[in-house]
Amino acid sequence: MILVMIILGIVCSSIYFFSHRARIQTIEKRLTNRAITTARLLEQKEIFDQNLIKRIDSLTTISLRNVTVQVYDLQQRKIYSYSDKIDDTLKIDQNILDDANTHGSVFFRIDDKEAVAYHYNTAGADLIVISAAEDFDGKENTSVLKNILLTSFFLGSALVLIIGYIFSTRLLLPIKKIAADVEEISAQSLARRIKTGKSNDEWYQLTSTLNQLLNRLQESFELQRRFISNASHELSTPLTSISSQLEVAFQRERAAGEYKEVMYSIYQDVRHMNKLTRTLLEFAKASGNAGGLEIDLIRIDEILLKLPSELAKINKEYVVSLKFENLPEEHEELLVFGNEELLFTAIKNLVLNACKYSNDQSAVIILESANKKISIMITDKGNGIPEAQLKKIFQPFYRVDDNITGEGFGLGLSLAERIIKLHKGFISVKSNVNSGTTFIITIPSARALS
Ligand code: ADP
Repeated sequence: MILVMIILGIVCSSIYFFSHRARIQTIEKRLTNRAITTARLLEQKEIFDQNLIKRIDSLTTISLRNVTVQVYDLQQRKIYSYSDKIDDTLKIDQNILDDANTHGSVFFRIDDKEAVAYHYNTAGADLIVISAAEDFDGKENTSVLKNILLTSFFLGSALVLIIGYIFSTRLLLPIKKIAADVEEISAQSLARRIKTGKSNDEWYQLTSTLNQLLNRLQESFELQRRFISNASHELSTPLTSISSQLEVAFQRERAAGEYKEVMYSIYQDVRHMNKLTRTLLEFAKASGNAGGLEIDLIRIDEILLKLPSELAKINKEYVVSLKFENLPEEHEELLVFGNEELLFTAIKNLVLNACKYSNDQSAVIILESANKKISIMITDKGNGIPEAQLKKIFQPFYRVDDNITGEGFGLGLSLAERIIKLHKGFISVKSNVNSGTTFIITIPSARALS
């Protein structure tokens, strides 16, 4: 509104300024013509005497009022004077006469009149003619124009204010509605959505984008809720087992061997819990952003070389074979920016699964590098994973029923996926039931990120 008012003000002022300038130019031209006419008549003094010239002057005063004509010779003596009103002589400053002498023509204001001092210089005469008059009609026209412009400005501004107010309140109404809807949405009422309206305009796009954001938020809240409930369930199972075993043991006096048996069983449960809490901690670590992690330049082949002995520590039967074929000459291609401990955990989880879920308890790791990308393939000849389950195995606590053998919480793959995502990579999986599974980790090399 202010902007429109400023533009309106500038337009009105410009119109006034230019019409005022045009009036001044017109009056200046007319007064100059008047001065030239009088000077020419005076030049012909043998034909026109001064009284005749004064009569002519009085007859040519039509639209100008209170005309005064004064003529000076080069010695600045007044040699002719005419005025519409009797005794309306002007006191002309000497500077003006000097200025007219040097510049030819000077425009100035005197009393209420506009005036021109004109230097008339021909072979027969050298005179300075002062021609002054009140431009009554011109001033009247300018004043009418001023009133019209002022009225237009104030009416226009009032109109702009009213229309602007109506328009902006209508424009802001949807924002108020969206704000009210958003205010009612909280973590407890995430299922609520913002009303989108019918027309497919910008508001519709904004509200549907916000609704999509709410969908994603609801989904991640749901995932979190499921995660917490699964984690507490996993923790409460060994705790219940511990307390019931203790209860039974306390019911009566027992032999030392029996106590030992109970203690061993409790020890197993505590170990299980310990492992779970450690995995959960790792999970929390990998769920944050990469900013909080210790990042180094790591050689991926060095991490892989540690795996055979690490897996043998877990179970002596596990066999891990490494195949480093088609590797580039420059070892820089095998460097990645990352957290060594987390990367090791991610790869170890996949290798551990390969050994765990295959009858021959062995895994093959193939390392390749091309186009600034590093691929680690972990293959086993196990039972494989049914097609329908392939998408679900990366969900926390998800375990494929047929394959549940031995220890596990269903967290290994989702933890590995999070870690690889943190390193700007991804995991894909190919599996054939009964013939085996291959997990492929792809991560950008340090070169790709530098
Ligand atoms: P877990 O602790 O059960 O191993 P993971 O998240 O590592 O949890 O794996 C999820 C499920 O995916 C496993 O329970 C298993 O059923 C299946 N799975 C993972 N890796 C393999 C594999 N190499 N071969 C067959 N099944 C696998």
